[in-house]
Amino acid sequence: MTSSTCRRKAGRNNSPYSRKDQTLDHFDYVDGTMHVEQVPMTEIAQQVGTPVYVYSTATLERHVGVFREGLSQLDNPLIAFAVKANPNAAVLATLAKLGLGADVVSGGELQRAVAAGIPADRIVFSGVGKTAEEMKLALELGIFQFNLESEPEAEMLSQVAESMGRKAPVAYRINPDVDAGTHAKISTGKSENKFGIPYDRALESYAAARDLPGLDVQGVAVHIGSQLTDLAPLEAAFVKVGALIAQLRAAGHDIRTADLGGGLGVPYDPSQPLPPSPADYGAMVTRVTQGWDARLMFEPGRVIVGNAGVLLSKVIRVKQGAQAPFVIVDAAMNDLMRPSLYDAWHDIRAVAPDGNRIASNVVGPVCETGDTFAMGRDMDVVAAGDLLTFMTAGAYGATMAGTYNSRSLTPEVLVWGDKWAVVRARPPIEALIAGDHIPDWVAG
Ligand SMILES: *Cc1c(COP(=O)(O)O)cnc(C)c1O
Repeated sequence: MTSSTCRRKAGRNNSPYSRKDQTLDHFDYVDGTMHVEQVPMTEIAQQVGTPVYVYSTATLERHVGVFREGLSQLDNPLIAFAVKANPNAAVLATLAKLGLGADVVSGGELQRAVAAGIPADRIVFSGVGKTAEEMKLALELGIFQFNLESEPEAEMLSQVAESMGRKAPVAYRINPDVDAGTHAKISTGKSENKFGIPYDRALESYAAARDLPGLDVQGVAVHIGSQLTDLAPLEAAFVKVGALIAQLRAAGHDIRTADLGGGLGVPYDPSQPLPPSPADYGAMVTRVTQGWDARLMFEPGRVIVGNAGVLLSKVIRVKQGAQAPFVIVDAAMNDLMRPSLYDAWHDIRAVAPDGNRIASNVVGPVCETGDTFAMGRDMDVVAAGDLLTFMTAGAYGATMAGTYNSRSLTPEVLVWGDKWAVVRARPPIEALIAGDHIPDWVAG
């Protein structure tokens, strides 16, 4: 493992990042076959079967290093990986070893993060629907911060904490009413979205929270959406956070933390301009937060794991279409939901391309028109039995997988140099069936 990638290098915040830096992953062709680090994709497909998610440790390390380097001008920032982007235990344990904390949105994610070795004092709990049980668990573990999203939630947390003789460290997630300019289903910072408390009413909400005996009001939080390809909305939101911190302090609140959320985009489509780099992002944050005198927190998800994973799939058959051939692959919308959910674009590459290209429609076997990965896509020519990969599938990939059409959950593999391991096995279909129960009165 190259520890240099995760070591902080002070003073290099302004180093220019090229496309190569930002897109750098470890999925490269060696002798005409795609490898992940030193392992041929063909070896994984043969031994594990397809479809399968494949993650690269070197790429994870690389992206943690680049993100950290972008923030190198800041004093002791807390980088809390957004677990929902990729909750695999092996991925979390890798990130824990690199010193990351966790941003969790459920009791399950909290337990996963702790089980993977992420210290509770680096964990922040986000989400609009935390239950009393989840709050209790988080308080018992002693997490760093709760990001509250409503006044009723503040009241409930205060009661739970008081009943345990504790004070819960909290921030309010404010809704800055900023348009993130991203897909509607992953925008979270407009006033009509369900997230956070309205910016205009924040002072009242904070005043009410201060009077609650079970809370220790320590910070402000914001997260306006995901896959942002422009820094301007982030900057607009952070400026509002800065103004609010000043107002809150003037009103007597002891604000010590500012959680700036996640949301930085990653390159999916090589023909599109690059999203802002972590260095650009870090420079903007450093400029905007000058003089805030608060510990800054970040919740990156996609930018850490997106490029570190691919979905490896096999072509079942190719059938003629009206305009372009349909390439029917053994991965489907249940394995990788992003295209059907958000019209997301994933680069599709043959594992062993022969150099020819053709416009193709790439679809899965599920009985839904939405089970379509690409239409009329210029891509490598492939035939039945060939392997292909959906690139940049490490974030919001396996974690959103389901069993629709009675398809087994997608397995996951983690590669490290020339080593690899199955980090989640493909459950046998019998296990799926055995999970159901037929009551007596039906069985007769
Ligand atoms: C999903 C989420 C994130 C991570 O978003 P990315 O776009 O993956 O960086 C961070 N914070 C909160 C509150 C989230 O819901």
